[in-house]
Amino acid sequence: MNLHEYQGKEILSSFGVRIQRGIVAQNAHEAVAAAKQLTTETGTSWYVIKAQVHAGGRGKGGGVKLAKNLQEVESIAEQIIGMNLITPQTSAEGKKVHQVLVAEDVYYPGDSEPDEFYMSVLLNRTTGRNMIMYSTEGGMDIETVAEETPHLIFTEEIDPSVGILPFQARRVAFNLGLSGTAFKEMTKFVMALYTAYVKSDASLFEINPVLKTSDDKIMAVDAKVTLDDNALYRHKNYVDMRDIREENPIEVEAKEVGLNYVDLDGNVGCMVNGAGLAMATMDLIKQAGGEPANFLDVGGTADAKRVETAFRIILKDPNVKAILINIFGGIVRCDRVAQGVVDAYKNMGDAINIPIIVRLQGTNADIAKELIDNSGLDVQSAVQFQEAADKVQAVLA
Ligand code: GDP
Ligand code: MN
Repeated sequence: MNLHEYQGKEILSSFGVRIQRGIVAQNAHEAVAAAKQLTTETGTSWYVIKAQVHAGGRGKGGGVKLAKNLQEVESIAEQIIGMNLITPQTSAEGKKVHQVLVAEDVYYPGDSEPDEFYMSVLLNRTTGRNMIMYSTEGGMDIETVAEETPHLIFTEEIDPSVGILPFQARRVAFNLGLSGTAFKEMTKFVMALYTAYVKSDASLFEINPVLKTSDDKIMAVDAKVTLDDNALYRHKNYVDMRDIREENPIEVEAKEVGLNYVDLDGNVGCMVNGAGLAMATMDLIKQAGGEPANFLDVGGTADAKRVETAFRIILKDPNVKAILINIFGGIVRCDRVAQGVVDAYKNMGDAINIPIIVRLQGTNADIAKELIDNSGLDVQSAVQFQEAADKVQAVLA
């Protein structure tokens, strides 16, 4: 589950990580009230107004702006809330902004070259250990840094049975070129950040930039936080942080009915049982000259009701020109799946107006093929993988 910046910062702060303080606002009126409250709490007289959407690069897209008085807070909030924010990380249509974070300005005037660092905590899948990835080159695209100056990216791996040790946090501070108060602040920051990552069951923390203020404080100015869905049951207070306005509506609906669905850009819809077979099927579609429109794992029970739900979800995507059903019948026999496909198809009447190719393999595959072939429906059957690919190619041509 992805979080908004303001939610990520709330979690960080609750574990003692210093953050740029801010208050979320739903409209310009609330933004002004938030600014006033911030001034009372922090003494700040300048503010940054930051669009809250699930995408990075907001600064580049005009979603992060400095306000030097309350009138500017109001006019900037008015301008950002409701806008369609287009950043390098959104689609071409952009993302609608529903709320802004009004934050204290922490880039003090006169500080011409603020020190911005990059820091993330994530799992290194090769070693099976969490690592802290960090760089002196904060504030910009880490992908660009990785490409152009990879020697400026450092990593620190943490032994899960021991946890982070103080010398590791000191090494981070040292490699970032810090000394004195800033050095001590950074070691505290790193220890707290890593603890927050582990205790919140996150799968990604990305703090870009981490700022060293001109008075040597270290703080998180931005926060991209992804929580592990499978651990959410341990964090009842985080569950409400989900903002489905930020999620793909078809994916949300699929999740509600228990289908494992990921929307993609292609033209061939897939219905498959098992994640591994789903991946292989997507490769097959590409080889046949198509592009998968989705990843869809219907799971173990591919009965008529489930197949019908899957059909309806796939057909919501207007780009779909054909559907490939690829089911391995082990415990669920192929003939039952085939019957499910036929029943679902008949139930849906005219809703299906594109070619369907069904490949069933496993127990009773031959009976299943007969069932499909004799159904009188516009459904083509295949037994071999290649056969299915050829049929997809033929209907796309
Ligand atoms: P992103 O563009 O989505 O990554 O959003 P960030 O939260 O990283 O903000 C983008 C940029 O806005 C940062 O890299 C900073 O340069 C700038 N920024 C953020 N907070 C402040 C602030 O308090 N004062 C000023 N002047 N600039 C800020
Ligand atoms: Mn950022």
